[in-house]
Amino acid sequence: MMIFPKINLHIHSTYSDGNNSIREIVQKSIKQGLEYICITDHFTNSWKANIIPNLDTKEKMEQYLTELSEIRQELIEDSQNLVLLKGIEVDITSSYDYIMKMISPQDYDILLFEYVESVEGVGFVKNLLLNWKQQFEKINEYCIFGLAHFDPSYFEYSSLGILMNFLKQYNVYFEFNSSYPQFYSQRYSNFFHELQANQILVSIGCDSHDISNLDNFEEPLNMIEFYALELNLKRFIEILRTRKRYYNTI
Ligand SMILES: [Zn+2]
Repeated sequence: MMIFPKINLHIHSTYSDGNNSIREIVQKSIKQGLEYICITDHFTNSWKANIIPNLDTKEKMEQYLTELSEIRQELIEDSQNLVLLKGIEVDITSSYDYIMKMISPQDYDILLFEYVESVEGVGFVKNLLLNWKQQFEKINEYCIFGLAHFDPSYFEYSSLGILMNFLKQYNVYFEFNSSYPQFYSQRYSNFFHELQANQILVSIGCDSHDISNLDNFEEPLNMIEFYALELNLKRFIEILRTRKRYYNTI
């Protein structure tokens, strides 16, 4: 088994439906020796918007980003080993115009898409990425895109090739999410074989809503080894490491 840094790139704070402040999450992560964490609070204007707190105004998003920048700066000044990434989890059943109006991807290090469950969903995300790429030329240099708790069962048969082409072409990663172990079950071994064959990036997120489960990355790591996807994770970590210098400047 290769040695990987401790990472959890899917965490919710009190800016959406998490129980803890960003500061509390950071303190606990330092104690647990995590090396990379990403706060990925919810963004939605679907039916969910009225049920869970989310990043629903420009002011709130700005405050969120400012707080993340400030704490990141403090970590650097304290020479902490922990890197704090700025993320957001976008519900793709939100309206396209709302997403375009509210989100500037260059403000984020990681942008997760949730509920990609069909070829239409893939098309929706592709349109967003194409549109952003036209507006922000070097978008892939600062923002990494991933699929949150992706359910392979929707793409088991004919549409698997479409999905793989999309992930490969747009450098979108698959998240091993320890809150949804059913999505990395062995019944999807064909899907994971395709991730390996197509050299799709993989990462780890715990979907933590509480500081009690910030370090649930053992099982995802074991499954990454089981599916022989260590090189896919290694490539992802290398991207993070390359960008670390850049994270330290903003
Ligand atoms: Zn989440």
